[in-house]
Amino acid sequence: MTLRKKRTVRQDNFKTVGAVNAGIVLIVCATLVAGAPVAEQGANNDGIDHSIRPGDDFYRYANGGWLQSVVIPPGQDSYDNRLMMRNESAKRVSGLVHDAASSHPAKGTIPQKVGDYYASVMDEAAIEAKGLRPLADQMATISAISGKGSLSSYIGGTLNSEVEGLIANADHVFGIWINQGFEDCDHNLPHLWQGGLGLPDRDMYLNSSPKTADLRAKYQAHIAAVLKVAGFGDTESRAATVLSLETKIAQAFAPDTEAADVSKQNNPWKRSDFVIKAPGMNWQAFFASAGLSGQADFVVWQPSAVTGVSALVQSEALDAWKDYLRFHLIEHYAVVLPKSVVAEGSASTPTVNGEPLMPNREDTAIAATNGALGQAVGQLYAQHYFPPEAKAKAQAMAHDLITAWGTRISNLTWMSPQTKEKALAKLAAFEIGIGYPDQWIDYSALDIVRGDAFGNMRRAEAFIRRRSLSQLKQPVDPIEWPINPQTPGAVIMFSPNAEFFSAAILQPPYFDANGDAASNYGSAGAGMAHEIGHSFDELGNIYDAHGRLRGWWTAEDLARFKSAAARLAIQLDAYCPLPNTCVKGHQVLGESINDLAGLLVAHDAYLLSLKGKPDVLISGLTGEQRFFLSFARRWRKMQTEASLRTQITSDTHAPAKYRADAVRNVDAWYQVYGAAPGDKLYLKPEDRVTIW
Ligand SMILES: [Zn+2]
Repeated sequence: MTLRKKRTVRQDNFKTVGAVNAGIVLIVCATLVAGAPVAEQGANNDGIDHSIRPGDDFYRYANGGWLQSVVIPPGQDSYDNRLMMRNESAKRVSGLVHDAASSHPAKGTIPQKVGDYYASVMDEAAIEAKGLRPLADQMATISAISGKGSLSSYIGGTLNSEVEGLIANADHVFGIWINQGFEDCDHNLPHLWQGGLGLPDRDMYLNSSPKTADLRAKYQAHIAAVLKVAGFGDTESRAATVLSLETKIAQAFAPDTEAADVSKQNNPWKRSDFVIKAPGMNWQAFFASAGLSGQADFVVWQPSAVTGVSALVQSEALDAWKDYLRFHLIEHYAVVLPKSVVAEGSASTPTVNGEPLMPNREDTAIAATNGALGQAVGQLYAQHYFPPEAKAKAQAMAHDLITAWGTRISNLTWMSPQTKEKALAKLAAFEIGIGYPDQWIDYSALDIVRGDAFGNMRRAEAFIRRRSLSQLKQPVDPIEWPINPQTPGAVIMFSPNAEFFSAAILQPPYFDANGDAASNYGSAGAGMAHEIGHSFDELGNIYDAHGRLRGWWTAEDLARFKSAAARLAIQLDAYCPLPNTCVKGHQVLGESINDLAGLLVAHDAYLLSLKGKPDVLISGLTGEQRFFLSFARRWRKMQTEASLRTQITSDTHAPAKYRADAVRNVDAWYQVYGAAPGDKLYLKPEDRVTIW
């Protein structure tokens, strides 16, 4: 059943979240879940189109050759650096995992755990031979549920840490995330959120359109098929009951927009509140089996879900709950169970030329290994592809960017002096993670046995859960990595006040530790500076230097910021890539402000890095020419017209070409590329916009 989310991927299945969501903004979507590998294209082509004047169309000047040579891969609607890097990282990870699996390393070592985890998921014969027997103990526990106490105890036992829950629907009845409180920055707290739906979101249960009704019918057939494989009779009626229970859970859910709204998530509950505010569940049994008996304080993100589900524990028949739990138990472990529990594809399966594009076993096994042993694979990745020298170079660049941001904040004319002070304090407290953690997760207590795919997954989950719960007794660690090094991406954490750039995003063409510094600053540097900017803009201004939910802009700051930004919105409104189809300035304004800020800050930082010395010429280009060229190349993207239209309709990022056009607001670009009155991109000095 491809409707369900890929549970095994966990950390690598971040969705791109553009809104503030409990202080975490995940920037770059990560793992290629399905799709054929694509050969890197245009790698040896410098891509410049010398027939175009830089001042007329800088994006085409920088990328014209590339745009002519590149082909959108089958099954995709666009191709860009991000996809190129994802493909490259996937290839690298695949090589590392294969090497670990075939070299038979010593028991207990990182390569042994990685290799044997992967090999076990690949060993379909062993998985088929065991059938559903590995589930026998948990199935027996479900069958033995005899009342509210044992039901609550079982549900509490499924409470697992799932980063995926940050998108507001956990794998189990509730999800948990251990992080500092919204207001208490000194203690880690359990954040509880809604969960337990098999379909991707609440609306799919409640929407009455024929398309959604059809998806629900397919889902119900899938539930029936799974229960049948598990040996149950009367599966049609059981499936209808499970779907009905899930629909009631969905009715208790907060809608997606509300679920992701931080102002509604900050609900501190005492342990004693649960019995009063959410009657139904036996909370003592629930928290005991969740390993949270001694926990006094919680943060409940969506109170309606906790209250609603708890009432369903009271009101719904035990047999309905038992079938629901059996089905979700099998679903949860589907990747390490026989093929027969994974039903046929559904309407939501992506297709190429009408053929369903299903993830193959290989992709599934690698994703499962990344999910269970993220930092173990990350260690192998870093050893091979991001040595300490690369980390040091990227850290030095980050240091220059922070310095440049500080100077820009100090010089702002729209921000009041008292707000500047707070901004600079936040910048000083800012933790920045580059490449990989300084201290890796210690996996020595996790036993991985070749041939025991199910046992490995269960032990890995228990390991992650123990580690996560142990953080409740430890001080807040602002550099707990929320992304794996091998996943190309950046994560902003507003709470705590930190940002992370994975090793896999610090690879060519964004960053080359052995390559040209000017190009690195223009590409990865501008990207990092953009992300840092979110900590100080309208996304991050509700969190202070310690990651507490506490706004630090004044109303006057906001008003002056908005009037400075309005000029950029007007500029963006004038970009019309298709007839009668123009960019919506306000929709893309927040991201475009940071594109411009990222460019300006990275340029300042690049000049700082030279320490007063002139840069060398490379291929006849000065350092600053390469800096701006690299910035424009960062955005190179080939996309179908339909993809462009969708982007203009709903994306908060401007189309690629206009992101590159941020250069027309930068005085230095005019000097470096000789853009002059009469050129299409030319703006009079007084029309150039600078916000940060
Ligand atoms: Zn952004």
